[in-house]
Amino acid sequence: MGSPILLETRFRKRPASRLTLLRPWGFGLLLISAVFLAFSPPIAQDQRYHLFADGRELFGVPNFLDVVSNAIFAVVGIMGLRRRRDLVAHVLFSGALLTCFGSSYYHVAPNDARLVWDRLPMTLVFMSVMAWVIAAATGTRCSSRMLVSLLIAGIASVWWWHATGDLRPYFMVQYGGMLVLFASILLVKSTRGLWPVLLFYSLAKLVETYDRAIYAFAPISGHTCKHLLAGVAVYFILRWHSRDCGTAPGCGEVPRELESIGFQNFVRVPERLLGRS
Ligand SMILES: [Zn+2]
Repeated sequence: MGSPILLETRFRKRPASRLTLLRPWGFGLLLISAVFLAFSPPIAQDQRYHLFADGRELFGVPNFLDVVSNAIFAVVGIMGLRRRRDLVAHVLFSGALLTCFGSSYYHVAPNDARLVWDRLPMTLVFMSVMAWVIAAATGTRCSSRMLVSLLIAGIASVWWWHATGDLRPYFMVQYGGMLVLFASILLVKSTRGLWPVLLFYSLAKLVETYDRAIYAFAPISGHTCKHLLAGVAVYFILRWHSRDCGTAPGCGEVPRELESIGFQNFVRVPERLLGRS
């Protein structure tokens, strides 16, 4: 056990070194994003996306398996809301629970208007993970400004697509977020336990692109597999939060400013409805 002065010095130095490591990644990502926005043409939603391989109807529900496979988001969302207490976790697992309803609504009759309700709650999950990762990487408490900024950025990216038909900001949020997560897993020890999240979400994106090819030889389609793998990814967020989050400075804490205005009461509504044990 070292002297208090030595321990304090170590504590202060560690976040600074993480920041030093992450700065090039942060600037690199911002640069790539700026170049992407400046030089790439707007990206429209491919309408073939709505034509899923498995359109089987069961119990009067069209696209039955693509609809009911969203139940996994409700399961992990409820698990997270019952177990976790901090504000970011409430936003994240509420997002997972809402994804079950939003995605089911979309898959009953897939079109652009309904896809908005699938993507909106998913951005709550992406942005909450980003808030934890950035807090862990910078060794700071997760500030309300950061959490709210990220949530607004995520929601705005979906709104932008809905209003203009341009998917670039949404892609930047989604794939930029995956790059940030990848960088963090490599560079920040306390977030290394998130590697299964990146693995399972990458697999989910992969099987999504092979929707028909998988359905050609398997009893379920690639898109149904995508829901299940993405649900597993959310489960591994919960597992990391339960096991490793305590080692990440700022993780598991409630931003003071949001707490003072009662924001937590709003996001804890689902928890109360579920009667957390
Ligand atoms: Zn889906």
